[in-house]
Amino acid sequence: MGEEMATKKRSPYFDEKETRTVEERWEGQAGELAAMLRMGMKKSPLIRRQIEALEMKPLKRSAFEILKRLPVTSREKLVQMEIEDAPFAGLGNPDAYIDRIFTSPGPVYEPHLSESDPLWARAYRAAGFGPGDVVLNAFSYHLVAAGLTFHGGLRRVGATVVPSGASSTAIQVQLIRDLKVTGYTGTPSFLKAIIEKAAETGQDFKKDFNVGRASFAAEPLQPALREEFEKQYGIDTYQMYGATEVGDVAYECREKNGWHICEEAVVEILDPETGNDVPPGEIGEVVVTRPNGIFFLFRFGTGDLSRLIVQPCPCGRTSLRLAGVAGRIGEAVKVRGMFVAPSQLRNVGERFPRWKFQIVIGRAGNKDVLTVRIEAPGMERGKEDLASFEKYFAEICTVRIDRIEKVPAGTLIEGYKLIVDERRWP
Ligand SMILES: [Zn+2]
Repeated sequence: MGEEMATKKRSPYFDEKETRTVEERWEGQAGELAAMLRMGMKKSPLIRRQIEALEMKPLKRSAFEILKRLPVTSREKLVQMEIEDAPFAGLGNPDAYIDRIFTSPGPVYEPHLSESDPLWARAYRAAGFGPGDVVLNAFSYHLVAAGLTFHGGLRRVGATVVPSGASSTAIQVQLIRDLKVTGYTGTPSFLKAIIEKAAETGQDFKKDFNVGRASFAAEPLQPALREEFEKQYGIDTYQMYGATEVGDVAYECREKNGWHICEEAVVEILDPETGNDVPPGEIGEVVVTRPNGIFFLFRFGTGDLSRLIVQPCPCGRTSLRLAGVAGRIGEAVKVRGMFVAPSQLRNVGERFPRWKFQIVIGRAGNKDVLTVRIEAPGMERGKEDLASFEKYFAEICTVRIDRIEKVPAGTLIEGYKLIVDERRWP
């Protein structure tokens, strides 16, 4: 610790919660869960019915046991629930002051958590961000939670934020150079594209710029790309993990060996088939509850597969770690950091009822490539049809189509997959 203070000046921890004992963490989280259960019963008839049916009192000592008996809610299920009971599926607190409402693909609507919640700040502190840093935030600020929520986390650790969002790589390069940006947050593939853009215009990312660290989310960081960032460009890289529905869930520390579970997240690893806990260290679905008084979403099933690392971490944080994301259950896939779910594709299909299509996600270099294979009788008649399809697709799915491949009638036979994910993560 003394050495750490001498070289880095500030504590590597966001607060003392990160080093509390297992018992202290249990006590703290059980109390927060019980408070959420009680508030949920008071403000949401749906939650009240669910908890009353269990005939258990939401006390600190029974909170985890009650949690275990509540249903797991997937993104798809939440979308359905919100369609039936807009906007928040009956899980919102009607008396809470909500400072903003996000949407994410589905669509699913989410009230933003309280401003006092340290969303993403633990991740940025662990990555070494702080006062004096000027950080390019290349997450989208438009409608989705990402931009503003990551922005809040950076502000909370004292960094200055450049809200560059989804601006072009040329503009990002210009901002990095002119504003002497010291850090980047966004997806790894977009940073790679920015570096390539700089090279194209004759600039040397390492020599001409000051970007010394980067925190990534929404996309896996492949080991080869990480090594390239670190060795070739001198960028210290970190991974963060979360979901719009529940905020930040886990983050990497300087050991870069697993992701510490956030103090605000109650994480379970469940067998997706049985719904039971898997033994510690085995792969299961990451299911998250974030105690709060605004949105009573208990047991959100992320659809991500991971496992727990239970050995203590040399960094001194006492939370368990997630060993990355091993894959997805179900069909929804992430393309360039955004989920594309079958429900969205069905939505697009409704607008073009005579056409059949599927999407194929591949990888070219370090980028996701989205191909649409389409059987479109009558498409030859007018290019407008195809253009309006592309436009509508981008609107509904929030990702652009890279290629359209026309296939002969009869290629997509009954029961064909809407989404084919051809990416292979090492
Ligand atoms: Zn650690």
